[in-house]
Amino acid sequence: MLQQKRLKNLSKLQFFFTLGVLTIFAVSVLNMASRMLIANFIEVGKNNSEFVYRFLEQEMIKDYEYGNVIIENDFVRKYVDMPDEMVITFYANYYLQEVSDEVEDIESMAIISYNQPDEYLSSDGSKHIILQDKTYFESHEYYISPFNTDNSEDTIYYVQMPIRMNDTIKGIVSLEVSYHEFEKRFINENQYHETGAFQIAGMNGNVLLMSCETLPVTYDSDILLNAIREKGGIARIDNQYYYANIRSFHSQDLIFIYSQGKTELFEIRSRILLQIVFAYLGVIIVYTILHFLSGVYYSHRILEDTKIVLEETVEAKTKVLKRQIRLDSLTQIYNHAFLVELLDEVLLSDREVTVMMLDIDYFKQINDNYGHPVGDQVLKEISHLLLDSIRTEDSVGRYGGEEFMIILRDTDLEVGYRVAERIRKDINAKAFSENEIKATMSIGLAQATNETSLELIKKADRKLYESKNNGRNLTTK
Ligand code: GH3
Ligand code: MG
Ligand code: MG
Repeated sequence: MLQQKRLKNLSKLQFFFTLGVLTIFAVSVLNMASRMLIANFIEVGKNNSEFVYRFLEQEMIKDYEYGNVIIENDFVRKYVDMPDEMVITFYANYYLQEVSDEVEDIESMAIISYNQPDEYLSSDGSKHIILQDKTYFESHEYYISPFNTDNSEDTIYYVQMPIRMNDTIKGIVSLEVSYHEFEKRFINENQYHETGAFQIAGMNGNVLLMSCETLPVTYDSDILLNAIREKGGIARIDNQYYYANIRSFHSQDLIFIYSQGKTELFEIRSRILLQIVFAYLGVIIVYTILHFLSGVYYSHRILEDTKIVLEETVEAKTKVLKRQIRLDSLTQIYNHAFLVELLDEVLLSDREVTVMMLDIDYFKQINDNYGHPVGDQVLKEISHLLLDSIRTEDSVGRYGGEEFMIILRDTDLEVGYRVAERIRKDINAKAFSENEIKATMSIGLAQATNETSLELIKKADRKLYESKNNGRNLTTK
């Protein structure tokens, strides 16, 4: 039982130990996964930010180069000088369309005359407005607008360059950046989970460019600026992670923001978590099964053990009880009841049976002279003597107070008589107890002749009384 309890405690210990190890493992794996994912996110954010910056630079240069070609064209120059002339307008427009067809990666081009700014030529009908007044272009070669134009939804960049004639600015050429490359990288809602989203904002928080209008890519510019300063550019707002950095673009500070949803970012971690949950369940299931099986095994064992112990105890107890039932408590030889029972059996099985009844002479006097305990001692010693005097197949018992009975098996009266005489003489010759008390016995004998056990006993008893009456210390058959 104790061992089983110990084993149970041990398996409980093992169970919690396994869960503990698993927990430590899980926590460190998840922690590591988080760090790696965040580090990777920052890396991707940096790369994307670099890509967008370079992309814009390249687009600006391209637009600027094309702008330089366009402002040198004769028809363009004539158009800005005389926008009312139909033929010139036609040729200028024709030229613009040709350039536009040739150049794929400029969104749209326009030629605007200061003489008629509302009626400009456009490569595809897109709306172009003059972003700077003439005075600006007196000192600048070109103007780049990263900010919203008059239309707040229009966050497209423009490169505008002045068309000069004899030191007079007659008009401008306006080029709208193509976002083809940017779109390829970010503006694909189906791929949003893989690509993340990209935005450019001014320092005031106004969005200038965004890859994703339909997704909830919101941010707080203060939080982002704080994140850039304190946390290496990382910020988490609601369920969105942001990587942001400030970059100077044509002398304007802009916030480049890359963001990705928490769910997408930690997708791998979620999968690991799921695996760990499965591992937990596995441990619990295995433990439960083992616990159940060991429970069944041990309860079976206990039952078996208990049964064996119980059987052994019952057997031993029965043995003792049986002995106690048969024996006389004082003398430890057979008692009256068992003697009669035994005689019944012997009478059934044996051909010749002789019963001997023995009574101590004047026993009362022994008690009177030496006391009851000494009398008891004498009874015990005589009992042993009687037991030693008979064969193993014969039986001796205490029939009553100081009266004994011996069953002699396969013995006739004559042989019985000789045994009786030997016993009588033996007792007569000995002294009993510490007090060296002399004692004699009177004996009666009877051989069985078909009577019952009680009749046979009575018959022997009568012979015993004959011995008493004839003076005691005698055997009568
Ligand atoms: P008799 O020769 O006629 O047999 O005389 P007796 O004194 O032996 O016979 P009696 O029947 O007068 O007395 C028997 C005595 O045995 C009486 C009783 O006190 C004593 N006795 C019987 N059982 C025990 C016992 O267990 N222990 C002791 N110490 N004495 C016993
Ligand atoms: Mg007597
Ligand atoms: Mg008597």
